[in-house]
Amino acid sequence: MRILIVEDESDLLAGIAKALREEGYAVDTSEEGEEGLYKATNWDYDAIVLDVMLPKLDGWEVLKRLRKTKKTPVLMLTARDGSRDRVRGLDGGADDYVIKPFDLSELLARLRALIRRSANQTRSQIQIGDVLIDYAARIVSLDGEPVTLTAREYSLVEYLALHRGEVVTRTALYEHLFDEDDSSLSNLLDVHVSNIRKKIGPEFITTRRGHGYCIEG
Ligand code: CA
Repeated sequence: MRILIVEDESDLLAGIAKALREEGYAVDTSEEGEEGLYKATNWDYDAIVLDVMLPKLDGWEVLKRLRKTKKTPVLMLTARDGSRDRVRGLDGGADDYVIKPFDLSELLARLRALIRRSANQTRSQIQIGDVLIDYAARIVSLDGEPVTLTAREYSLVEYLALHRGEVVTRTALYEHLFDEDDSSLSNLLDVHVSNIRKKIGPEFITTRRGHGYCIEG
């Protein structure tokens, strides 16, 4: 999953980005509205964390302009006393909000729920054959036994599971799993898939030659 964070308080931005990367998300950042809107419009993010008070273009304007072209889930960061802000945000096409100051764990939980909802996957667990994926705990189990996956491997499984039954192209996986600063070694994806197959079984992810990867529905 790839997330964009638009926030001009650099300590807060760094804190959110670090927490998300530790969870295996690919993270892009921006400290002002114009650049944030540019990135939001030009990449297919899985979710956007958008502050209201921003230099150059405020969060409302970013949201309004973004909604002309994209439905990317948006979680707004609003002020404590801004109940009018929250109504305005939800009316303006925001999908959720958290009130500053917030717990990072709450932000992460809301982001996970937002991403599941946007994939029409409202339950927090999904069973595919012998494999159980717990989105809330970010754990994959095989026959009831937890499988040790790296954060990136988990993200790959999660992304394919949220799109199960669909062939996900390599390009889409690169866009959603790696951020703009990741080195794009072309075989990295294959290495992750190969490791997942060793841990979960060779049939779990199928390769569609020339198209991409798929977890059968
Ligand atoms: Ca701000």
